[in-house]
Amino acid sequence: MSRELIELAIERLREDFPNKSRSWVRRALIRFMKGTVREFNENTWVVKGLPELSDRYPTYVVRLRDGRYYCSCFESNWGLRRRSEVCTHIAAVILYRNYRKLDSDVYASVINIECVDYYLEIPSELKGKVKVVKSVRVIDATDRLNPRHRVTYVIYSSEPMELRAKLACDGEVRELSLKLSKTRRYIIELLTHQPPQPSSTHFL
Ligand SMILES: [Zn+2]
Repeated sequence: MSRELIELAIERLREDFPNKSRSWVRRALIRFMKGTVREFNENTWVVKGLPELSDRYPTYVVRLRDGRYYCSCFESNWGLRRRSEVCTHIAAVILYRNYRKLDSDVYASVINIECVDYYLEIPSELKGKVKVVKSVRVIDATDRLNPRHRVTYVIYSSEPMELRAKLACDGEVRELSLKLSKTRRYIIELLTHQPPQPSSTHFL
């Protein structure tokens, strides 16, 4: 397992559950690192119990239903208390899924521009097949109403392809021909992910 990917997977988990304690994250990480999570099917995982984490059963079953996770430990004696919580079996499954996703292959193309106004348009028939994510950073706020940005667009898909896109930057529109080539999913995360920041007080 790659350390960098594990760190990213933990970062995502922390962002999804900002109020959870360090020990919750640590227990989820122990479960994940010990390889206790196995995928049973698309929406079901089996998590091996760890006596050192006070598990009373040899295995737990985590299910994803309507966007919510449920764990078989909810049905134990402590179920009433636990039902409202996200147990660390679930957290371990989320870590496992985050890691697998970051570790997968995608096909991508990257565009970097610096402009005040910008947009990128991909053919509408490709929407759903091709995803676009962007990262925007203000590089010059001298004109506070029209700050200048550095924009990174990542266009990616689960399959290799070539496509045409329209890129506008400060009134200049260009037709681009993009070839999506193979890369790892976590590279896209590194290029585009910005941790949540406090409101931009540094521009005041
Ligand atoms: Zn559980």
